[in-house]
Amino acid sequence: MGVFDDLVGQERAVQTLRRAAAAAAETLAGGSGAGMTHAWLFTGPLGSGREEAARAFAAALFCSGGGCGHCDMCHQVMVGSHPDLETVRPQGLSYGVKDTRQLILRAAGAPTLGRWRVVLFEDADRATEGASNALLKAIEEPPPRTVWLLCAPSPDDMMITIRSRCRVVTLVTPPTSAVAHVLATRENVPPDMAAFAARAAQGHLDRARRLALDADARGRREAVLSIPAALTGVGECVAAAERLVKTAEEEAVAVTSVLNEAETTELRKVYGEGSTGKGLNKGLVRGGAGALKELEERQKSRATRTKRDVIDAALLDLVAFYRDVLAVQFGAQVELATEDRRADLEAVARSSTPEGNLRRIEAIMLCRRRLAANVSPQMAVEAMTLSLRSP
Ligand SMILES: [Zn+2]
Repeated sequence: MGVFDDLVGQERAVQTLRRAAAAAAETLAGGSGAGMTHAWLFTGPLGSGREEAARAFAAALFCSGGGCGHCDMCHQVMVGSHPDLETVRPQGLSYGVKDTRQLILRAAGAPTLGRWRVVLFEDADRATEGASNALLKAIEEPPPRTVWLLCAPSPDDMMITIRSRCRVVTLVTPPTSAVAHVLATRENVPPDMAAFAARAAQGHLDRARRLALDADARGRREAVLSIPAALTGVGECVAAAERLVKTAEEEAVAVTSVLNEAETTELRKVYGEGSTGKGLNKGLVRGGAGALKELEERQKSRATRTKRDVIDAALLDLVAFYRDVLAVQFGAQVELATEDRRADLEAVARSSTPEGNLRRIEAIMLCRRRLAANVSPQMAVEAMTLSLRSP
């Protein structure tokens, strides 16, 4: 199975990338840098697989078979150990100029294995203005073997000067049927569950996979979708907001604690701490305490981001719910992402107006923007649940 086979419903983008990888191989064979595009921008909605597409392309650039999926090169890219591929995943809400400058220096080095040096920058839209300016300089005059793969939700999320220098690859939301097919054939998910998960995840393959395979994830979705029908009074609104934020916190802790532990152990090993040291800095060689502190800062910022991402996913489920209420009110013949909540949908549809539901969707989108702008989750979510209740 080739590296591009995982990109569900992205035929057009895959065709572009395959051709580009073949052209890149010719460029290498010819010994000239001509014909290679050094900056790429992968865009597409959440869950469309921007990062996956960029990673597959990186594998195709390193692999002599254009991304065969089973050679050493492909394997190293997929597990993240290829020496010429650097993946940048901003842990905080933004990515600063200092980190970017260091990244640019590393990117400028010659490829270890002789082909390309590739930087895969996930969520490049989180680069600050200063960072973006530094990045712009780097992609304006790229070393002949360096390739930048930037990922962002849409071209508009990047500085116009950056995106005009990138070749844009547009990913789309894959159809529900394609996602269900992947779950059923590759993950052995029973057809009914696959159809439910694909519909509920609205084309987001990772999320569909989680919903299909993880009962806890399904439970959390249930809890979120039970909110609209429960907002009977002010007290209920406040309680619902508190529950939503708390659940997100718990999930974020579950996700990040495993990562944190592994990183801390690794760092302590690097700085030569014996297995007996228990105090924070005990037994660390010089520089270790500072590095540990820096790591803890990064971990804290990642926890914050994960919590926000979890809340954001919950908010998107709520948007889907009210969209479905509107569809019910208008008798639209469309697939409903929250079909499994049919009784709630109909009850809310009967007791509300379309205008009210449009306003509710706006309130949820406003909450998303406020969270992105760093408003306290508790405050933002509470304001939202209160406006979901008002008629
Ligand atoms: Zn390969």
